[in-house]
Amino acid sequence: KGRNNSQLFTKSMRIFMVERLHLQHELRKAIENIDNHFFLVYQPKIDVMANKVLGVEALLRWKHPETGLISPARFIPIAEEMGTINALSKWVMNEASRQLRSWNDKGIKMSICINVSPLLFQQADFVESTLYAIEEAGVEPSDVQLEITESVLTIYLDEAIDKLNLLKSNGLTIAIDDFGTGYSSLSVLRKMPIDRLKIDQSFIRDLQKDKEIVALIISMANKLGMHVTAEGVETMEQCKQLQDLHCSEMQGYFFSKPITAEEMEEYLKRPPIS
Ligand code: C2E
Ligand code: CA
Ligand code: CA
Ligand code: CA
Repeated sequence: KGRNNSQLFTKSMRIFMVERLHLQHELRKAIENIDNHFFLVYQPKIDVMANKVLGVEALLRWKHPETGLISPARFIPIAEEMGTINALSKWVMNEASRQLRSWNDKGIKMSICINVSPLLFQQADFVESTLYAIEEAGVEPSDVQLEITESVLTIYLDEAIDKLNLLKSNGLTIAIDDFGTGYSSLSVLRKMPIDRLKIDQSFIRDLQKDKEIVALIISMANKLGMHVTAEGVETMEQCKQLQDLHCSEMQGYFFSKPITAEEMEEYLKRPPIS
């Protein structure tokens, strides 16, 4: 059996590698002309108690001329490997800041959350170029929140603390994304200048089963003076359970999928829960 299996393995590996190479090639081409191939969608973050939108998270989309939409879960890891993630991330930062400015100009008070890849965070000029993009767009730094993952904290701890402090002293706020899926210890968390934990959607999916963990994360965050957002809230039931746990900041399909900037302007005209 061994030989057959290994042949099967090799064949599927080959297909996988070819697909990957192809995607790399396409990605490189698309990034040469970023404005035409990528766009941002926005998902609201809701304060359920107040029944209002607290802000939006910017999420990247790649519109391939033949394949159609390609999910960031597929192309971001590849962009990270290739190093092209930095060009993409800079574009996201500029585009999101410009959109925020445009909303501000229309009298829409809004805050925006931007995902920061670990590789971008590592760049020596990350803080500078982020501040520059915000300044350039003419938006309030306090209306911009950066979402980083726990991996950033565990690998580059001292460097990370310096950078986060610098960002915070300039008015930005910081959230830990996908919280609960990494390995950051309590002592690390306590040292970090973090404003908000976003509980990973895997815990919300099985909220019945993971209720204790979620309750623990919420009470820990509260003790550390951090806000908590629950991600991936899809049902009324989950929404209610989270409120019972004293978590009222939520994001998820129950309120809205990620939508375009124009759709968001419509969305904002009504209270999120009617
Ligand atoms: P994330 O930052 O954890 O974003 C949340 C993901 O969950 C988004 O997927 C969103 O569309 C999806 N989602 C939101 N609500 C629900 C829900 O109720 N149920 C379910 N099943 N899913 C929900 P998306 O847009 O495909 O993005 C996937 C990941 O790609 C993001 O995860 C983030 O890590 C990364 N990403 C997206 N945009 C950017 C970007 O501009 N820069 C970087 N560095 N990463 C990005
Ligand atoms: Ca995120
Ligand atoms: Ca997340
Ligand atoms: Ca994620």
